[in-house]
Amino acid sequence: MSVGIAIVGSGPAGFYAADALLKLDIDCRIDLIERLPTPFGLIRGGVAPDHQSTKKVIKAYERTAQAEPVRYFGNVHLGRDLSLDELREIYDAVVLAVGAPKDRPLEIPGAETRGIIGSAAFVGWYNGHPDFADLAPDLQAETIAVIGNGNVALDIARLLGKTRAEMASSDITDYAAAAIESSPVKAIHILGRRDAGHAKFTNKELKEMGALSDCAPIVDPRDLEAGVPADLDERSRRRAEKNLATLRGFTELDPGGKTRRVVFDFCARPQAVLGDDKVAALRIERTRIEDGRVVGSGETRDLPCGALITAIGYRGPAIPGAPFDERRGTFVHEDGRVAPGLYAVGWCKRGPTGVIGTNKADGDLAAQQILEDVRVGGKSGREGLEALLAERGVRYIDYPEWKRIEAAEEAAAAPGAPRRKLVTIGDMLALLDEKRASTAPP
Ligand SMILES: Cc1cc2nc3c(=O)[nH]c(=O)nc-3n(C[C@H](O)[C@H](O)[C@H](O)COP(=O)(O)OP(=O)(O)OC[C@H]3O[C@@H](n4cnc5c(N)ncnc54)[C@H](O)[C@@H]3O)c2cc1C
Repeated sequence: MSVGIAIVGSGPAGFYAADALLKLDIDCRIDLIERLPTPFGLIRGGVAPDHQSTKKVIKAYERTAQAEPVRYFGNVHLGRDLSLDELREIYDAVVLAVGAPKDRPLEIPGAETRGIIGSAAFVGWYNGHPDFADLAPDLQAETIAVIGNGNVALDIARLLGKTRAEMASSDITDYAAAAIESSPVKAIHILGRRDAGHAKFTNKELKEMGALSDCAPIVDPRDLEAGVPADLDERSRRRAEKNLATLRGFTELDPGGKTRRVVFDFCARPQAVLGDDKVAALRIERTRIEDGRVVGSGETRDLPCGALITAIGYRGPAIPGAPFDERRGTFVHEDGRVAPGLYAVGWCKRGPTGVIGTNKADGDLAAQQILEDVRVGGKSGREGLEALLAERGVRYIDYPEWKRIEAAEEAAAAPGAPRRKLVTIGDMLALLDEKRASTAPP
């Protein structure tokens, strides 16, 4: 009897788990349950729209989705359409791959001020994630501050600095492209509490900041004097060496007549957001690093800014029925095992670190654990899910329907762009139901 496995979440971690299960010598049926109609998690909704080559990884996921034992159930939200307890009743094993979609909050005075935008929302907005399509961030500001020293902060700053022409081959939403183009922004500040050598930027992404057509990177050479920190492991040391060389190169570039600037502010710890009804400035304390720790100097300055974007990390969603570590923002687990027959993979297991490929090892491990733990099938599995969804009137989307959404997006693309995304679930369902009505027999 085949083993019924539900994987909740169709981002990289969910797909790697499905792929690893397919490679095992077991008779199983794998159902991918996804809250959005569209698959691929942050590959569609997080990875920058001008980094299309990164998104090519979905070709491999596509093969997994179309393998015979696999079914896709899009537009099914665990915790809204059905509970985890119900899912565990139906399936022999359940793998949680729900990511870490919530912004870590900024915990300083003034953090509730209007005009502060979390990166999950901002990135979701420019990428057309249905949760954030109507965010309408106010970018009518000459200075925008981005808090964070990782690649997400770089993505945001780069997109704010790129011209419309530079975005022509991307799949940024039309409304975001228009809002960024019409923004009067002149300075985009990237702020990190630590020194330049501790920044988490990958070098390839950092280098891109020096190659924008109308935006120049600005670095204070004094911020590079400390050199490579002594407390780094080998991998981080190599990254720091490359980044410092790139940042040194930026100090030698002539900003010329470029309209926009990306200013790197290192050793800059946000202390308070200032502004009555809207962000007006960010109070920053100068820091230094002592024994690997950030120490305040007491010296502060106010950076006037009309918008503030935080890129300081993510938390997973708590789901009733699964123990959740509030501090880490992940499920409680032992090497991926959450409870008998319940597993976690990807960002909801490890937290928001690593690249797309880092999630593969989680999938491989979960598949091995399922092989060890779940000897016999016998639960209702896919038929049970379909019956429950039918009983509740949940309109789920299968993989061929997703392919129809994809085809419509590709057909609507502007010249040179890969697609024009549908950004509301309503529009996606309308497209499918229109097609369904037009192909229905008289
Ligand atoms: C802004 C940004 C840019 C990035 N850029 C890069 C990059 O350029 N290169 C790179 O290597 N890595 C990049 N990463 C990292 C990469 O995206 C992650 O490593 C990876 O997406 C994590 O995979 P995941 O499957 O754990 O989570 P996700 O990709 O977040 O997938 C989780 C899935 O679960 C679904 N889900 C959530 N809750 C439920 C629920 N209750 N019911 C059903 N489904 C649910 C979500 O809709 C989503 O589809 C980036 C990350 C971010 C945030």
